[in-house]
Amino acid sequence: MNDMYLKFGISEAVLAYADKTEQGLTERFKAIDRNAEYCQLKVIKAMQEHRVSEGCFEGSTGYGYNDLGRETLEAVYASVFHAEDALVRAQITCGTHALALAMAANLRPGDEILSPVGKPYDTLESVIGIKDAPGSLKEFGITYRQVDLNPDGSFAFDRIREAIRENTKLIEIQRSKGYATRPTLSVERIGELISFIRSIKPDVICMVDNCYGEFTEPIEPTDVGADLCVGSLIKNPGGGLAPCGGYIVGKKEYIEQCAYRLTSPGLGKEVGASVGLNRNFFQGLFLAPVVTAGALKGAIYAASLYEGLGFPVVPNGTEPRYDIIQAVTLGSREGLLAFCKGIQAAAPVDSYVTPEPWDMPGYSDQVIMAAGAFYQGSSIELSADGPLCEPYNVYFQGGLTWYHAKLGVLMSLNEMAKAGLIRL
Ligand SMILES: *Cc1c(COP(=O)(O)O)cnc(C)c1O
Repeated sequence: MNDMYLKFGISEAVLAYADKTEQGLTERFKAIDRNAEYCQLKVIKAMQEHRVSEGCFEGSTGYGYNDLGRETLEAVYASVFHAEDALVRAQITCGTHALALAMAANLRPGDEILSPVGKPYDTLESVIGIKDAPGSLKEFGITYRQVDLNPDGSFAFDRIREAIRENTKLIEIQRSKGYATRPTLSVERIGELISFIRSIKPDVICMVDNCYGEFTEPIEPTDVGADLCVGSLIKNPGGGLAPCGGYIVGKKEYIEQCAYRLTSPGLGKEVGASVGLNRNFFQGLFLAPVVTAGALKGAIYAASLYEGLGFPVVPNGTEPRYDIIQAVTLGSREGLLAFCKGIQAAAPVDSYVTPEPWDMPGYSDQVIMAAGAFYQGSSIELSADGPLCEPYNVYFQGGLTWYHAKLGVLMSLNEMAKAGLIRL
């Protein structure tokens, strides 16, 4: 086996260190496999219950009326998430769009959004209007309030109680830490938060940004009271086979509003051609639990290896995980560049290019990104990125297979070693 790794230019020293670390992860990996097994069964059961058939793979065109595949897919998603209804569409362009859609569809002028878990994901700042942007919800008279987590990561229940007003209509709860340093929320904790909020205002809409969290646990936020649960198909639930798209699952009345907003009042869910994508969406969902498990193993492997070398990692190698993102504080510009170079060099696509920092719109510092993906921007595929500023954090995620994630982490270590940034 090591001969194969040597062919990728990985040194004996890197391999020896990594082998020792991997041996210590056996129990961890077993637990991930058990969760994947449970989620796999959950998906298959839903597909059987809704009688997925060959006919579901035929796509519609034009208006997309009577699209058996699309309708069945949405029923399957609703079942997997134990929700009343679902909207799963290629026309939802990404996770940000899905979240913007869910909010815009269910809010009216004068309503207020509350985030009880601190600042939401970067792209939502423009959506909500935290940062002025054309077309933001703020322009439509929708206001926003935020309560940060306590310094120890716990919910600030008293401040949340005070922040819930007469016009608080929707609660935005982000499951994953995203690119922040707060802990990712377990589904159980999301459930506690929703129960608390319900006890104060029963009719509020509890929406969870589920990006990167799907299938990392046996239950999903809709199992603990979320009214809406939203995510991207080029992350976990697309299983690497969905080339684009987003999903919203939850209460029927709120999903209907989303459909009217996505297409048009009066049309709703009845239109929206699936073109040729139904098969990808079904097969991707089918594979998603196992793909997510591979990504989780890669994240734990990276955490353990880098932690062992003294780099701060979030989460660490032993704590429980509720999303697939791994942050490593590399501490130097050279470290960040070397890490990303290694991830790129391990890719099945574009392995021969060297990622360079660039001025990405909307970011104050230059950003470097490594990805050699089959689908553009797909972050269930092995990818890494980070802003070129102190403390030089890299955010690493994905890997359609554990073996590819492993190769990526090894290549990153190897680049770090070649640059003299680690000693083994
Ligand atoms: C990725 C992500 C989004 C946005 O998804 P895009 O598909 O990149 O628009 C929103 N929230 C969280 C937590 C995410 O990880």
